[in-house]
Amino acid sequence: MDLAIDAPAPAAPDCADDGTWLACIECDETFAPFEAVRYTCDECDGLLEVRYDDPPTFDEFGSGAPSEGPDRGVWRYREALPFDLGVTLPEGDTPLHRVPRIEEAVGVDALRIKHEGMNPTGSFKDRGMTVGVRVAKELGVGALACASTGNTSAALAAYGGRGDMQTLVLLPAGKVAAGKVAQASLHGARILEVDGNFDACLDIVQELAARGEAYLLNSLNPFRLEGQKTIGFEILEECYADYGGFPDRIVLPVGNAGNTSALYKGFRELVQSGALDADEVPKLTGVQADGAAPMVEAIEEGNDEIRRWEEVETRATAIRISPPRASASSRPPPRASPG
Ligand SMILES: [Zn+2]
Repeated sequence: MDLAIDAPAPAAPDCADDGTWLACIECDETFAPFEAVRYTCDECDGLLEVRYDDPPTFDEFGSGAPSEGPDRGVWRYREALPFDLGVTLPEGDTPLHRVPRIEEAVGVDALRIKHEGMNPTGSFKDRGMTVGVRVAKELGVGALACASTGNTSAALAAYGGRGDMQTLVLLPAGKVAAGKVAQASLHGARILEVDGNFDACLDIVQELAARGEAYLLNSLNPFRLEGQKTIGFEILEECYADYGGFPDRIVLPVGNAGNTSALYKGFRELVQSGALDADEVPKLTGVQADGAAPMVEAIEEGNDEIRRWEEVETRATAIRISPPRASASSRPPPRASPG
């Protein structure tokens, strides 16, 4: 599959539902998007990506009468998403703060910080959940589950609650910020603390999903990235309004690189529609903490595979993970991104 930033828009296969389908990023196999619960490719176990035959333009964002949908937040970008509206709290439309003292300290003319903590449960994960829980409804599943280092569990619990669904979150015991556990609990999730690390939690939750007992909303779920790509759309729109151009570079913290992949995918779709030239796409730079830097290690050592670190440690708990066996870390970029 051609995942280059200037790859042409794909033609819809027969299995597409209203111009939307799932495609394997490894072998190109395509699947109907909402007929069955599916997290990876039936043929090769590769990661799946949501595809559209009609990628969005900037003019389509927030267009139409108010009755047709929200003008702010994630669902402003419904033309780039599988549905017109999700299970919403609502989310997105987060501030892009000006930071003059940091600009001066690092010697950059214009630096802005996107405050994703302003989402309903306090993290960008809400953007993915508004889409993912809507898909769960479409699939007709009644229970949701995730393994989490904290933010995902809070988001899953809140959106599952809003969607009137049962939620189960698995947390590595003693490794999650107390406030995040409290959030999940207050939203009615069943919480299971696992004596092990994040990967041990993921193993259990994947077994539950394989037995059909819960719909998995971990990072390998392709629909969550769809909501997360709206971070990139908001940045481009706001920068264009403020500066008359797009940013040169976007710097993101990297756990399993879900957001990096999501923003790249969103920009690729804008290039496909002709809304953005390939050379206007901001460079994406991922940052890892010293104590949890398996991707940095792979790039520095020139390895094709990302080594799993048995011990990861950083105060930034949301990125305290070694890449799980099947995760968004296998998606492009890091290296596919221009720059
Ligand atoms: Zn495949």
